[in-house]
Amino acid sequence: MVFEQQELDKWLQTYPLLQPIINLEPVVWLNPQLKKMNQLPPLAVNKEDMEDAARLWQRFAPFLANEFPETKKTKGIIESPLRKITNTKNELNDKYDAKIQGELFLKCDNELPIAGSIKARGGVYEVLHYAEQLALEAGLVSQADDYIVFSSDQFKEFFKQFTIGVGSTGNLGLSIGIIGAKLGFQVSVYMSADAKKWKKDLLRSKGAIVHEFKGDFGEAIYTGRKLTIDSSNGYFVDDEKSKHLFLGYSVAAIRLQKQLENEKVLVDAEHPLFVYLPCGVGGSPGGIAFGLKQVFGDYVHCFFVEPTHSPAVLIGLLTGEKEKVCVQDFGIDNLTEGDGLAVGRPSSFASSISDKLVSGIYTLEDDELFKYLAILADHEGIFLEPSATSGLDGPARILASTYAQQHNLDTTHATHIVWATGGALVPKDDMEGFYNKGKNLI
Ligand SMILES: *Cc1c(COP(=O)(O)O)cnc(C)c1O
Repeated sequence: MVFEQQELDKWLQTYPLLQPIINLEPVVWLNPQLKKMNQLPPLAVNKEDMEDAARLWQRFAPFLANEFPETKKTKGIIESPLRKITNTKNELNDKYDAKIQGELFLKCDNELPIAGSIKARGGVYEVLHYAEQLALEAGLVSQADDYIVFSSDQFKEFFKQFTIGVGSTGNLGLSIGIIGAKLGFQVSVYMSADAKKWKKDLLRSKGAIVHEFKGDFGEAIYTGRKLTIDSSNGYFVDDEKSKHLFLGYSVAAIRLQKQLENEKVLVDAEHPLFVYLPCGVGGSPGGIAFGLKQVFGDYVHCFFVEPTHSPAVLIGLLTGEKEKVCVQDFGIDNLTEGDGLAVGRPSSFASSISDKLVSGIYTLEDDELFKYLAILADHEGIFLEPSATSGLDGPARILASTYAQQHNLDTTHATHIVWATGGALVPKDDMEGFYNKGKNLI
């Protein structure tokens, strides 16, 4: 429901930046509510929750190494490499005037095992958390046991009586479907009919049941949630308000700290860290930003990125209304080719934390996604899905803003990390189409 003109005018008067947002122009918003760590009120989760989540990942490592051979070399830890992308940095500086002085890194979650996207953090974590809880309650396991037992027929037989439901346009469904089916759960994925066919096929091949909805994605989630909760042994993974997804994502920060140490990258007052995170409902960028703030405090500066057609978290935080408003209220269509980013309404859980921790949000046009896809492919040989490239616009956009000045930052020795959120599972033909589209734009 689009607001009446009178109401819209009121919003515009209070928040003039809404006008270019409604006009679908790319904008940079700097968060006036950003808090220093020593000014933070208590949040819905804390550092111990993140450390608990890291321990759960550790307990399940033997199971994951056993079930997913691609995680054997990391002993069952699901993690992605951090790669220096100096060729791309030079290209961005030379051709696009990015003015990056420090190092530029790509955090390659496109290579994450199991799901080939950032959802291998949140989605897999939430299912493991649920499985552990059921097994503990049933007295099948204790936390001191070797979790290789989760691979046994006895456990798979046990989990068969439970159903996990999830609403997804793609990547979240894939992660839940793959890990859920591996554990033995019945998994139902509720998708809009326009979700990519290859994702539905892949899910079905893993044993998940795919329900398609003709209407919009909101309807798929609504019905999926209702059907799952109404069934006696049903558990719904709720992207719009999940704490577990959030904590699963947050653990990335602890791992990144080690990777930066290995690269001899300092993070302190003279060496600020800038991180650019593609944003859908805000769970993955919110969870990771929360984790990074626990690890690096005020020295890390996290920015979210949304498509100009889907600025859900931007509008939610800018107005302070969070999940109470959606982009359609402001006449914005939520149509974008950035698959994981096509979200009209932000996560309530993540927004209540991000509103104090995110440094800012910028939006960009879909064509830019394809352009960056081609640039990265040409200069690094790395192929991402379109939504995952959006962070590459970050350094130029933020360095050109007043952010550093406002916060008294010297960015000469800053490190920039672009979070690449997905790509590994995209079929070759689709990827070729994306690449050619981007090539035509440079
Ligand atoms: C889901 C997803 C995101 C955004 O995560 P949210 O938790 O929805 O904010 C970004 N990129 C890709 C590739 C995704 O699949």
